[in-house]
Amino acid sequence: MVARIIDGKAVAERLRASVRARVAERVAAGGAAPGLAVVLVGENAASQVYVRSKRKTTDGVGMQSLAFDLPATVAEAELLALVERLNADRAVNGILVQLPLPKQIDVERVIERIDPRKDVDGFHPYNVGRLVLKMPLLRPCTPYGCMQLLAETGESLIGKHAVVIGQSNIVGRPMALELLMARCTVTICHSATRDLPGIVHQADVVVAAVGKANFVQGDWIRQGAIVVDVGINRNADGKLVGDIDFAAAQERASWITPVPGGVGPMTIATLLANTLRAAELQDV
Ligand code: NAD
Repeated sequence: MVARIIDGKAVAERLRASVRARVAERVAAGGAAPGLAVVLVGENAASQVYVRSKRKTTDGVGMQSLAFDLPATVAEAELLALVERLNADRAVNGILVQLPLPKQIDVERVIERIDPRKDVDGFHPYNVGRLVLKMPLLRPCTPYGCMQLLAETGESLIGKHAVVIGQSNIVGRPMALELLMARCTVTICHSATRDLPGIVHQADVVVAAVGKANFVQGDWIRQGAIVVDVGINRNADGKLVGDIDFAAAQERASWITPVPGGVGPMTIATLLANTLRAAELQDV
């Protein structure tokens, strides 16, 4: 079996087009274009690339991109004060504080200070709690993007055994909650898991979010499994690769996401969809 590719670029383009059309409708009806504030602290090279791309894509769907760049030495109090100003600003519908943050800043405190209705990353305990309770509002972008890629296969997820590798707050945990809400039987694996290959081999759906190049071996994958690779890593040749040995996994899976061109484009498109949703929530 050679897996079919789930084309994240194409799905993301469709999602962006639908957001662009809905933004245009809002503006034509006399409303303001939704505003997304992206806060970047310091000069982490990867963060700068992500933020540049988020800002460009925001403009591309007709939304307002508001940039706030703070030095790496900024005091936590100053960042919290900025978040509060953005919370109160009616032109700002979504607030995203790019992670990671420098050591002197308590990430949880910053996330909790964001108005949950403007929390377009879906990281605020309120939004995570809503996801736990099967009543999601603003959903973490990467897992929600993965769910849209899974929907693209046209296969029902009900009753499937889904194995998520990774338990981070931004990917693994919310991913498991999304799959549970879709009525999968979910197993979450992490660095203390025993017999990872054996567990992955039982999976109908595998989602890898580990952060290690080519970590998941092809022969761990069960014939016909659906494979979603969240990882973004550079291999020894400087090439972008995922967490899954793509070439080998493709021989066994029924569907697979590539890296690049799989989950990555969905994350930003979902962020924009969340910003529009946030603006709609704030209308009422
Ligand atoms: P993280 O470092 O916070 O979490 C990694 C997880 O992997 C941890 O829960 C850890 O327990 C688990 N892990 C580590 N070693 C393991 C092992 N040997 N066996 C089993 N589990 C192990 O990382 P993260 O923020 O969740 O990101 C994971 C990957 O996804 C990274 O490559 C990151 O760049 C990528 N990512 C991609 C997108 C996207 O849009 N495509 C978004 C976010 C993160």
